[in-house]
Amino acid sequence: MQHDDRGLLPPRPDDALVVDALVRADHPIKMAVADWAADQLPGDDLIERDKNSTFFEKGWLACADRGLTGALVPERFGGRGVDVVTATLELEGLGLGCRDTGLGFALASQILSFTDAILRFGSEEQQAALLPGVCAGHTIGAFCITEHETGSDAYAMTATAERDGDDYVLHGHKAHITLAPAADVAIVFAKTNPAAGAWGISAFLVHTDRPGVTRSGVIEKMGLRTTPFGDLILDGYRAPEADRLGPEGAGVSIFTTCMESERGLIFATQLGAAERIIGEAIDRARSRQAFGQPIGGFQAVSHRIADMKVAHELARVQMIKTAALIGRGDTATMDAAISKLVASEAVADIGLAAARVHGARGYLTDHDVERDVRDALGGLVYSGTSDIQKNLIARLLRVS
Ligand SMILES: Cc1cc2nc3c(=O)[nH]c(=O)nc-3n(C[C@H](O)[C@H](O)[C@H](O)COP(=O)(O)OP(=O)(O)OC[C@H]3O[C@@H](n4cnc5c(N)ncnc54)[C@H](O)[C@@H]3O)c2cc1C
Repeated sequence: MQHDDRGLLPPRPDDALVVDALVRADHPIKMAVADWAADQLPGDDLIERDKNSTFFEKGWLACADRGLTGALVPERFGGRGVDVVTATLELEGLGLGCRDTGLGFALASQILSFTDAILRFGSEEQQAALLPGVCAGHTIGAFCITEHETGSDAYAMTATAERDGDDYVLHGHKAHITLAPAADVAIVFAKTNPAAGAWGISAFLVHTDRPGVTRSGVIEKMGLRTTPFGDLILDGYRAPEADRLGPEGAGVSIFTTCMESERGLIFATQLGAAERIIGEAIDRARSRQAFGQPIGGFQAVSHRIADMKVAHELARVQMIKTAALIGRGDTATMDAAISKLVASEAVADIGLAAARVHGARGYLTDHDVERDVRDALGGLVYSGTSDIQKNLIARLLRVS
């Protein structure tokens, strides 16, 4: 992350904070948000909302009131301007305290991709127009690169933005987009110069209340069902030049820069949730009796829980390291890819291991365990699959 002279980007994290965040899994910044979330974001109707794919709007606004949506945004735009490590600890706390993992994922996605892009690449006018609403929780943003035929191969996109006087005219169909059905504004990547391939991609702010753009309804998915998810269809949408994000042709550089924060840190809420899941597996191992003893007395069960803890701790430390690098303005491409890879695999393994510990109870909708498993699996895909992270790591190592 570059530190700019307009003071728009988050301050450098204090070295003492970085060390503390690495060594203390119960860091007070994280635990304060976890306690607040447990108290203020009750999950009473979560089974129903999960069933119906209902977004927890009240919870979103409560998070905004708590300053979470604007954590990284400077105070003059209504945010708190905290550093990246603090924001990461807060997201982890949100995941730990709030059982609605879909809410946490939606919020992390908005902060780490949409808001991050506006902070780094937005003009003063774009920032002044959007960031106060983002901080207040009234402006919801989406970040749209994927299309039905181009997921991992994102730069093969077919969406176009053709110059017409002072406007660009956008056509295309963006698919599988977090928050699309709820979004007021979307950052849309489209080709302004198809002949230039990846270097012909630009980014635009698309306002979903204007003609030429349609949001799909909520598209059903296996997990993270309380995160609104769907498509954004552009059919002759006119974006004035002032709505282009960054220079023409800068799409790939905007995307790769923002992906460092997204990849590296988006698992903060799900790692927070995994901590809760491990705690609940330990409780179950202690209390469930079989063959005249608590099941935790069987090494098969205790080692399973030990494995969950090891995977979680390694992923958490890698994520905090990545947050520190990003916050310091250092290159974090390799560490963000490692963070995404180990966190997504850890979260999926932990979800499945917890289901084994809970037995049939873990398979019932009345308990959180089965939802936690479903919520865990999306992470293997979003922000780039594990294969794609390994490709990136191997490329950076110049293996071939
Ligand atoms: C919950 C969720 C939220 C999402 N949110 C957003 C969002 O907000 N914005 C957005 O733009 N997109 C979003 N996506 C889309 C996501 O980024 C893509 O689904 C992802 O990049 C994978 O693309 P794909 O689904 O087309 O899979 P494909 O690219 O078709 O991949 C299928 C399989 O082939 C493998 N594969 C493909 N290419 C290679 C290769 N070169 N080397 C090795 N293996 C390869 C993959 O690893 C995978 O196993 C989201 C997806 C999910 C599930």
